Amino acid sequence: MVRHRQKNFVILFVFPNGRMEPKLPDDAAIYLGITMTDLYAENLNYVFGYGSFETRTGVYSLARYFPDFWGQPSNADSKRLTLRRSFKVLNHEASHVFGLKHCIFYDCSMNGSNSLEEADNSAIHECPVCHQKLLESLQFDPEKRFKALSEIFSKHGLDEESQWWNTRSANWLRSR
Ligand SMILES: [Zn+2]
Ligand SMILES: [Zn+2]
Repeated sequence: MVRHRQKNFVILFVFPNGRMEPKLPDDAAIYLGITMTDLYAENLNYVFGYGSFETRTGVYSLARYFPDFWGQPSNADSKRLTLRRSFKVLNHEASHVFGLKHCIFYDCSMNGSNSLEEADNSAIHECPVCHQKLLESLQFDPEKRFKALSEIFSKHGLDEESQWWNTRSANWLRSR
């Protein structure tokens, strides 16, 4: 069964009417909504999500990342793919809410994509330029972040991604 014909207007509903901003907790850096409902916006076929730097809020749909949306069976590989896609969109869209624009420098999680295929081919990690932008604005501990990312990818069976962050952590330490 293909479910994407069931249009709804969550984005139109949430953003112009400011539904999320009043709920932004006082101590929150950003406030994100995640839904399994497919999202559409005016004049667009569908959207994976929408984030606003000005209001520090965003909403994202994971619906199209699940094989049952396309009428396909679910298995271990498809579950990993769904997870990889979900990590990607949340990282990408949260970074928009933190103020990053689309990246044109390298293969980067902040490259723009107009289709699921393009998104699948994009990097899961930000490039050095975008990493530096995030670091400047958020002042996190890079080593701690790289290790946490490596652990979470490993925990969910995304070994290649886990190894990538491990290597980045080691390179970061070497460059200090
Ligand atoms: Zn984007
Ligand atoms: Zn970049």
